[in-house]
Amino acid sequence: MARPIAAIVGRPNVGKSTLFNKLIGERRAIVDDTPGVTRDRIYGVAEWRGQEIVIIDTGGIEPKTDDIILSKMREQANAAIETADVIIFMCDVKTGLVADDREIAAMLRRSGKPVILTVNKADRIGDVEEQFYEFYELGFERDPIPVSSIHGNGTGDLLDLVLELSPKDGSGDDEEGVIRVAVTGKPNSGKSSLINKILGEDRLIVSDVAGTTRDAIDAKIENSHGVYSFIDTAGIRRKSKVDDKIEKFSVLRARAAVERADVVIIMIDASEGITEQDEKIAGIAHEAGKASIVAVNKWDLIEKDNDTHGEFVKSIKNALSYMTYAPTVFISAKTGQRIDTLFDEINKVYAGANQRISTGTLNDFLSDVTVRVQPPTDKGRRLKIYYITQSSAAPPTFVIFCNRADLFHFSYQRYIENGLRETFGFYGTPIRLVIREKGEKQ
Ligand code: GDP
Ligand code: GDP
Repeated sequence: MARPIAAIVGRPNVGKSTLFNKLIGERRAIVDDTPGVTRDRIYGVAEWRGQEIVIIDTGGIEPKTDDIILSKMREQANAAIETADVIIFMCDVKTGLVADDREIAAMLRRSGKPVILTVNKADRIGDVEEQFYEFYELGFERDPIPVSSIHGNGTGDLLDLVLELSPKDGSGDDEEGVIRVAVTGKPNSGKSSLINKILGEDRLIVSDVAGTTRDAIDAKIENSHGVYSFIDTAGIRRKSKVDDKIEKFSVLRARAAVERADVVIIMIDASEGITEQDEKIAGIAHEAGKASIVAVNKWDLIEKDNDTHGEFVKSIKNALSYMTYAPTVFISAKTGQRIDTLFDEINKVYAGANQRISTGTLNDFLSDVTVRVQPPTDKGRRLKIYYITQSSAAPPTFVIFCNRADLFHFSYQRYIENGLRETFGFYGTPIRLVIREKGEKQ
């Protein structure tokens, strides 16, 4: 299931960034960084009641210095609103309701998205300031909720509401038998050419879930390989060169599309080779736990000899060392070369991500691999692995119970992961291992 996306929207200085940091703060500290991925401040993951929620801070989008770009701010906040499932509309109890709040409220109402009106800086627990009641005037369906972003008061209620208002499993986005595909890549890699080629040749289906905003931006097609929904097609085809220049903005769109996808295509421009920006985009897919395919586009432009193909594969595996699981396809969006293969790969990585292995089979596997390479020891203590079970798919996630997590070194986790891939496949998908201690430490 896709993680819900919540965007924090409001005028400057109401406390958006403070809330953002509060919600993702602890979480950020425990997640280790993927090499090659620089974290931006506008996008983070919060965890609440065992579920992950993606948070976008539109305050982080707002460039505070450059006047020319400032005029683009509203457009960017709009993009965040468009991609979000739920809007956290933040106001400030210290200033009370002001004209700008009313303007933003009107804009949010037009978006048709669920809005949680959040009144920040309510620092005194159980004693809400007089001005709080002004916010009822905005006339939102739900009561405003008081929070203190600095202290964290009220944020639990807020996240409860975010989960309650987010689309549930089985709603529009999780239509049975439809594979959701996000096409990502840097500007000019050929994303819209690929989409146009596909839309031109395959049968376009009018979605039966009428009236949702998403129908307008996603394109559902059917061909001999299956049924697919290409995510945020409008965003890809909309040619706004100014937006492309603001890198944060294109990255934000890419992230939102990746969140909603089953399969991510990472487009690389063959004429330029793999670049840092490609690495960053690939890192987004990896961190989101999505099945991925590297599509090397404009292959028609490349003069080839015996080594060209192999050298290219090698440079990709080098640059994207953390996602060697992703298959590489050499395509041309222009001529249509190997777009069929691309669809085959989409089906294969989708199947890989959704593969499930029974606990019995997994534990047979475990006794096998632990005999082949003994678990590590440290100062006379040996790691003992009790059992392994698959807790979820997409991405395949395994919970492993052991005596001491600190002995379960990264290299041994890698060994287990490689073993899982060799034995069961998990083609094209990241794998997650969750290490749990059980019983007495010994
Ligand atoms: P943004 O521009 O909306 O992202 O606002 P910031 O997060 O940068 O916060 C603006 C100011 O409000 C900063 O000085 C914060 O310390 C302050 N602030 C944010 N949240 C709270 C809060 O819950 N209580 C109080 N008293 N101040 C806050
Ligand atoms: P986007 O910004 O990623 O959507 O990239 P576009 O689809 O707009 O493509 C950028 C440029 O590359 C355009 O001039 C395309 O015609 C060209 N292009 C895209 N795909 C191919 C391809 O497979 N081969 C060649 N030769 N040119 C391509």
